[in-house]
Amino acid sequence: MKTEKYKRLIQKKIIETIEIWSDQQSVEEREIYRFFHNLKGTSGTIGLLEIEKFSEIKEQMFMESSTKAFTRDEWSKHLLPITTMFPAAIESLTEAISANSMESSDLDDNINTENRVLVIDDDVHFVTYVKEVLEKHNYPVSIALNAERGLKLFYEWKPNLILLDIVLPDHSGMYVLNQIVDKAKQEHIPIIMVSGNFSVENQINAYRSGAMDFLAKPFDVELLVALVDNRFVMKQDWQRSIIIDELTGAYNRKHFNKMMKQKIKCFKRSNEIFSLVMLDLDYFKRVNDTYGHLQGDEVLQAFVAIAKDTFRSTDILCRYGGEEFAVILPRTDAIQAAVLMDQFRNLFNEVKFHANNEIFQVTFSSGITEITEANSYTEKLVDEADQALYSAKRAGRNQTIVYSNELNERNYEIPLNFIIVDDDPLIRDIVINSFANWKPVNHLKLQTAEYSSGISFITSDWYKEGEKYIILLDGSMPDLDGLEVLRRLREDYPEKQLLIVMLTARNNTKDIVHALQMGADDYVVKPFNMQELVLRIERLANRMLN
Ligand code: GH3
Ligand code: MG
Ligand code: MG
Repeated sequence: MKTEKYKRLIQKKIIETIEIWSDQQSVEEREIYRFFHNLKGTSGTIGLLEIEKFSEIKEQMFMESSTKAFTRDEWSKHLLPITTMFPAAIESLTEAISANSMESSDLDDNINTENRVLVIDDDVHFVTYVKEVLEKHNYPVSIALNAERGLKLFYEWKPNLILLDIVLPDHSGMYVLNQIVDKAKQEHIPIIMVSGNFSVENQINAYRSGAMDFLAKPFDVELLVALVDNRFVMKQDWQRSIIIDELTGAYNRKHFNKMMKQKIKCFKRSNEIFSLVMLDLDYFKRVNDTYGHLQGDEVLQAFVAIAKDTFRSTDILCRYGGEEFAVILPRTDAIQAAVLMDQFRNLFNEVKFHANNEIFQVTFSSGITEITEANSYTEKLVDEADQALYSAKRAGRNQTIVYSNELNERNYEIPLNFIIVDDDPLIRDIVINSFANWKPVNHLKLQTAEYSSGISFITSDWYKEGEKYIILLDGSMPDLDGLEVLRRLREDYPEKQLLIVMLTARNNTKDIVHALQMGADDYVVKPFNMQELVLRIERLANRMLN
């Protein structure tokens, strides 16, 4: 008996899950994992061994913490066998699958330009006239002659603008307004009150409750059309502003993520390829430092303006952050993308900026990757383009590099040496252990080494050309003083390859100043908090490695 009840509950849960997932663009892998994981547990508990076994197999196919996006096509396949065990789940799953194939192919419609108008008014002659006029101006119109029907259409037909009468047969228009105003505001749906009773009190009431406009009946239809046109233009501006970066006019990161999802979906469905480019301005910090941030802003704006001129209208240019941009190039392979980027690079490099009676030019580097079966999710694509970008920076900037696996391997080959020189074995031990699991940016290979004295360090053959070093240097050591080691390091080795942090026992300002003057990148006062040290080193290292 009990089992029957639980079985129904499980069935309900499965159907709910299918329904929720069907409403989403995609489902993250970890959600699918959790679904099968839970199903395994519950079905096992109530003795549904067949389902338990099935769920267990499925569970192993998904990764517990992956955020990889699964399309409806992909996840529904995995759920199909369940429906033979739970016949009632068939219906919702079939619905989900057919909804998928019917889905609008117009995925490129970046901005919602739909303009459905809902008229809630009980004056039949008035509403039919308004409908006719608005439809002539290409606005689809639906009519509700009472409040209940109006509310129903609001939720089901999802209008983009509402004309609302105040006096209605069942409830007042003010009641309807109060019911829908929060959702309408959230979705930027303008509500225009229309009433024969245009007392000041009524109008104040309407505005206070969140109506956008108040139109007194009777009115000139041309006035209505102008008002509706105006409100739709405004609505589009609102919608644009949500996805556009204010400073540059490029799309923002939120939109980038959305577009990536769409393009990846397109690729999986119809094999339509695209390339992803990450671009980063070279030495941009210098532009800010030399000419000021306002001038820096102007460079960013010029960069976007020229990019928009160069790229096709279907290319999607996004500001990924600071002075880093991402471009999605539909139907473009990596080679074509590289040609395009080089054209754009040549154009941009020519631009002469004027500041402080000086003329300066700015360059950028870019990394490109192309979508394939193996990398078809956002994180991976961004990571690959980023790695290529990083290689372009390392190779001297002002260039374009296409991602390849070899690039990846080469990056892994470059060692980052983490060295601690300290006469206290305990400190050496703690520090080395704390960094054992640290993953430096750009996948450099971490190697650690420790030395118990300045002499043993300096006289060893610790240095190899071309490698990077982070050196933690104890300030006071018996044989060779830390400051002296620091002096020699800065004298004899390329500064950029060595990041040096002094560990000083006393909070001695003079020593600290001395160390910084001699070229230490930072200092840490003992006793120190290990977590803080790790964070600080990471921050410094990122700066050095970028
Ligand atoms: P690299 O060639 O290695 O990329 O050197 P970089 O100096 O360009 O790189 P880094 O990441 O060190 O510096 C980026 C600078 O961009 C630092 C930051 O102040 C500046 N920046 C980020 N966003 C803006 C912005 O909106 N306006 C201005 N003016 N500067 C910005
Ligand atoms: Mg930069
Ligand atoms: Mg940067």
